[in-house]
Amino acid sequence: MSELISAIVPCFNEEESLPLFYAEIVRVAGEMKSTYGAEFEFLFIDDGSKDGTLAILRDMHKRDERVRYISFSRNFGKEAAMIAGLEGSKGDYCVILDADLQHPPALIPQMYEYVAKGEYDCAATRRISRKGEDRLMSFFARSFYKIINRVSDTEIVDGAQDFRFMTRQMVDAIIALPEYNRFSKGIFSWVGFNTKYIEVENVERVAGTTTWSFRKLFLYSLEGIIGYSTAPLAISSWLGVLFCLVAFVMIVVTVIKTLVFGEPVKGYPTTICVLCLVGGLQLLCMGITAQYISKMYLEVKGRPKYIKKETEADGR
Ligand code: UDP
Ligand code: MG
Repeated sequence: MSELISAIVPCFNEEESLPLFYAEIVRVAGEMKSTYGAEFEFLFIDDGSKDGTLAILRDMHKRDERVRYISFSRNFGKEAAMIAGLEGSKGDYCVILDADLQHPPALIPQMYEYVAKGEYDCAATRRISRKGEDRLMSFFARSFYKIINRVSDTEIVDGAQDFRFMTRQMVDAIIALPEYNRFSKGIFSWVGFNTKYIEVENVERVAGTTTWSFRKLFLYSLEGIIGYSTAPLAISSWLGVLFCLVAFVMIVVTVIKTLVFGEPVKGYPTTICVLCLVGGLQLLCMGITAQYISKMYLEVKGRPKYIKKETEADGR
């Protein structure tokens, strides 16, 4: 039997990009069929789009039975869409790619070559330039990778994208991770397996607009740090130890000064400053702990990562 490749495509308000994307992936699928005899299924995840995305998907399925879709009851985010796609996929290989053609389907044959030969379990792209990206954004992105790789045992590769071609074995390993707070860049690396990174230039989206704001990216990076490192907790403990030591030395000095040398205690403003500083640090450290507790709270609730509203099997 020929091999089946599942192309998993998260879509959030992608009505403009979808027809272009579809044309391109169909072209690549045709090429791969004639070169390797590989079959495709195209699994689109409609992540609660507010535009005509779902209507386009229904229509595409009617005309091409390789097109499958899962439509969510609301927007659950790209992470949820990716896991839903992996869980719903049937292929011997899975490839995740964006609908906006920022992940060129033309790279799939090359990825397939690396993985099908058996040397690698996964092929992913890694962008080496941040061309066309806001300078401030690039700076924060770089800093994020520096910080996270220092504090986490899981390597998070700078510039690695979600554009990945994986074996079924690796996909099953990813599906088996039950966490609710998902940070794919960490998960892909945590499950191990051999990954080939293909270096690419940054590609701009064909149509529509990105939904990532600075705020969203910042929260996502916190997700990564909290999810893959306990360093902030350790730092807050060590800050506590440091301040206890400083306080102890200050107490001894003050007592000696007062009792032995009879100096009156003075310096009301300094006391207030120190009080504020220590109070602030205490709140900061409590806040760090609270971040972990809030993540745990979400995990403990055990809610589903996404809710399906419709799939191609519903025949609409
Ligand atoms: N996406 C999604 N859910 C979201 C946001 C984005 O499924 O809540 C999809 C989107 O349709 C696209 C991919 O994830 O296919 C990447 O999103 P986008 O292009 O906005 O991000 P960027 O390329 O700027 O990182
Ligand atoms: Mg994009």
